[in-house]
Amino acid sequence: MKASYQSLDLRGERVLVREDLNVPLQTRLSPKTSAEGAAAEHSQPAGDDRIISDDSRLRAALGTLRDISDRGARVIVMSHLGRPKGRRVPELSLRPVARRLAELLEQPVAFADDCVGPLAEEAVARLGEGDVLVLENVRFHRGDEDNDPEFARELAALGDVYVNDAFAASHRAHASVVGVAAHLPAYAGILMLAELEALHRALDEPRRPLVAIVAGAKVSTKAGVLRFLLPKVDSLLLGGAMANTFFKAEGKEVGASLVEDEALDTAREVQRQGAGKLELPVDAVCARAAEPGQDTVLLPVDGVDDGWMMLDAGPATVRHFAERLHGAGTVVWNGPVGVFEIPEFSEGTRGVGEAVADSGAYSLVGGGDTAAAVAALGLTGRFSHVSTGGGATLEYMEGRELPGVAVLRDRV
Ligand code: ADP
Ligand code: MG
Repeated sequence: MKASYQSLDLRGERVLVREDLNVPLQTRLSPKTSAEGAAAEHSQPAGDDRIISDDSRLRAALGTLRDISDRGARVIVMSHLGRPKGRRVPELSLRPVARRLAELLEQPVAFADDCVGPLAEEAVARLGEGDVLVLENVRFHRGDEDNDPEFARELAALGDVYVNDAFAASHRAHASVVGVAAHLPAYAGILMLAELEALHRALDEPRRPLVAIVAGAKVSTKAGVLRFLLPKVDSLLLGGAMANTFFKAEGKEVGASLVEDEALDTAREVQRQGAGKLELPVDAVCARAAEPGQDTVLLPVDGVDDGWMMLDAGPATVRHFAERLHGAGTVVWNGPVGVFEIPEFSEGTRGVGEAVADSGAYSLVGGGDTAAAVAALGLTGRFSHVSTGGGATLEYMEGRELPGVAVLRDRV
């Protein structure tokens, strides 16, 4: 396991913390009159007309930031926001994020208009013990995504210690995630450790039986996860649009269902590797289009006619999966088993989610859309751990070492 900064004496130290503050932003809807607009342009810094539509990533970062501040350190926060691709894009400024962070932390949060150079250096020099500073979007510089050594050196010069708390960005070898660790002692933050411990508990030392549910849109994006999990699990329940490709590979009629023809061989290979462990859906809620308000029919998976699409797991599938989940020691769940975004096709995902929650197992939920489904279907709080890692979680579930984790010191 990785070492926590919590064993250090941080009083007075400048702690450079990488967080994932990449929140969804929306433009304020109220249209300004042109006079007001002009006045606002002069009085307000760029990016101030943006509102944060979901601040859960900021809330997730609070634990580490508050703790480091309480230890008397000077807290310097780095993050990216969106994809400015090395250019200064005012709409992607972290300024509104810094303001929201101040409200959540209930303490002032300073902001530097650049993440390196004189503006950043002066802002850092003004910090007292316990103060928090947010640096402007690191991706305003190409050097971040390029992991440019000179850019990494400039960033690292702002701190004495580096803390990576951005698990969700740690599959990227960027300067603010990986490069700075060449110059500073590097430790894990609280959120980072929570993510690593949950993944470790579920995948490396699972209480058995270990049951995985892998579903979602495509076989091609989950092939690595399937290959890594199959040898580890006692059973693997496969669903979502991915399952259609498996049915087609078996020679079944799948009607107009979403299928990846280029992944048929992968499906056959997984079938062979998973013989005796793999469970597929037995029925499906079908419609003629993946749209709200469609007529739906419940069909067995070998009876889908031309023009019909399998869009959700049916009740017999949910019962079948629930039987497998009952008595599991550990459950790993990635991928919605239907088009959960549309109410007509969300019951399968809700039913599977409830079966995971009711199984009594240690339950780890991962994947961007799966986490969104958990929230949308009212299942929040019913699992042991819902990973915030998105793509990083999936890479971990492929057995890959995440570069932003690899650079951190090991616990001794
Ligand atoms: P995650 O982000 O959690 O890894 P994925 O991105 O793999 O999950 O898959 C999520 C998407 O899969 C959702 O947008 C959902 O609508 C879609 N999906 C699930 N089942 C089906 C299906 N039967 N047909 C079409 N799309 C599906
Ligand atoms: Mg997804």
